[in-house]
Amino acid sequence: MSLPAHTTRWEKTLVILDADDTLWETQGLFERAKTELHALLAPADLTRDELAAQLDLIDAQAVKTEGFAQSRFGNSMLRLYDQRCAAQGAQPSVATQIKIGAIAARVYTSAPRVYPGVREALSALHDQALVVLLTKGDLDVQYARINASGLAEFFDDVFVVPDKTAETFRYLTASADHLFETMWSVGNSARSDVNPALNAGLRGILVHPGAPEAGSTWVYEREQPAPGAQIVKGVPEAVRLILQSAAAPVSP
Ligand SMILES: [Mg+2]
Repeated sequence: MSLPAHTTRWEKTLVILDADDTLWETQGLFERAKTELHALLAPADLTRDELAAQLDLIDAQAVKTEGFAQSRFGNSMLRLYDQRCAAQGAQPSVATQIKIGAIAARVYTSAPRVYPGVREALSALHDQALVVLLTKGDLDVQYARINASGLAEFFDDVFVVPDKTAETFRYLTASADHLFETMWSVGNSARSDVNPALNAGLRGILVHPGAPEAGSTWVYEREQPAPGAQIVKGVPEAVRLILQSAAAPVSP
């Protein structure tokens, strides 16, 4: 995995963008699934948020064994259901398991909502920078979301990776760092998009629409941004920052 050594346009800026919950909202699809699961199971002892918290723990644990496969979230819901049945001495119902599968499937087949201003911002950015989408997750799901977003024309390249570490960013930029004056990573996760990028010598911008407890970031991704991270409310603000920096006079 490496960037093309030559591009037909001349750019001095490389921008590596995250996709889910940076360009478009997917966390809401998961939250809706949790609400549907609560309605389906109708537990007398747990509120919707308590059930969601139990599921989040099971799902964060499952990342270690199942990674970011599309099947993981549905499996975590089924595991939670099985655990609850076992605790109550009840036999899991196949009909309920099928309904859980359908709830999980909708998370991956629903088109995500592109955040306001993202399209215009990417259009402006693409005129002046090499723009690379770096996303982790299931290949088919990510491609479907990119297509559904209508933003594909603004990406010079797309990489779908199993995880994002400092090594990922180093590997991605290894053959290209002499081509660019500045390299940026922009994303909603300090853990995946910002801290490993800073570690690899890029500049990092954390897109953070609300307070950490607002639920805009998945439990698995919660980590504090490292010193040097810049924090903005959305991609349009991140793009303004990048373009202002690129326009600033270079000291002789
Ligand atoms: Mg993300």
